Amino acid sequence: MRPRFSQIFLSLAFVAAVFSLTVSAQGRRVLAEAQRITGDRFTIAARTPRGANIYAVSRPGPAMLTAIDNGLADLFTVARKNGYRRNLHYSDYTVFIARADRQTNADGNYSPDIAIGAAQYAGTEYDKGGYIYVAGMVISNSPAAFVIAEHKRDLNRVSDIVRFEGEHLVLYHNDRRRYNQTADHSKGGGHPILQ
Ligand SMILES: [Zn+2]
Repeated sequence: MRPRFSQIFLSLAFVAAVFSLTVSAQGRRVLAEAQRITGDRFTIAARTPRGANIYAVSRPGPAMLTAIDNGLADLFTVARKNGYRRNLHYSDYTVFIARADRQTNADGNYSPDIAIGAAQYAGTEYDKGGYIYVAGMVISNSPAAFVIAEHKRDLNRVSDIVRFEGEHLVLYHNDRRRYNQTADHSKGGGHPILQ
C-alpha cells in the first residue's frame, strides 16, 4: 500500500508540474501577442474581485476592476440565456488594459481607444490611414483574452466593451458557426451579437 500511494502522489505531482508549465507557456504567448499588437508593456498583473486575470500598463483602480466583472457578469447571463455553458467562469478570461491611443472620438466624446494596424479594415470607413481605432480587440480565443484601453471615467463603457469582446470568445467556445459569421466586423455586423 505504501509504495503504491507514493507512486500515485509522484505521478500527480508530475502532472501538476507539466500543467503549470503549459499554462505559463500559453500565458507568455498571449502576453507577447498583446504587446505586439498594442506596442505597450504590461508590467502589472492583477485579478478582479470575481477572479478574472488582468495585465495592465499601470495599476487599475477598484472601480475599473469592478466594471470588468460587471461586463463579464452581463456576458455570462446572456450566454446562458442562449444555452451556452462553456467558458463561463471569470478565471477563464484575461483582460489586457492598454494605454489609450486617443481620449476622444471624431465627435469629441470621451472614448479611450487603441490604434491597431488596419489589416482587413483597410479602405473601409474605419480606416484612418493604415490603422483603425478600436474600443477592444480579441487577442486569443483559447485561452480567452482581449485588450481594452485605460479609462478614468465612463466605466459603464468598460463594462460594455468587456461584454462585447467576450461575445466573440463565448461564441468561439460554444457555437463555432455563429462565431465565424460574426467575428469579422469588416464584413458588417456589430455588437451586441447575443440578445
Ligand atoms: Zn467585435
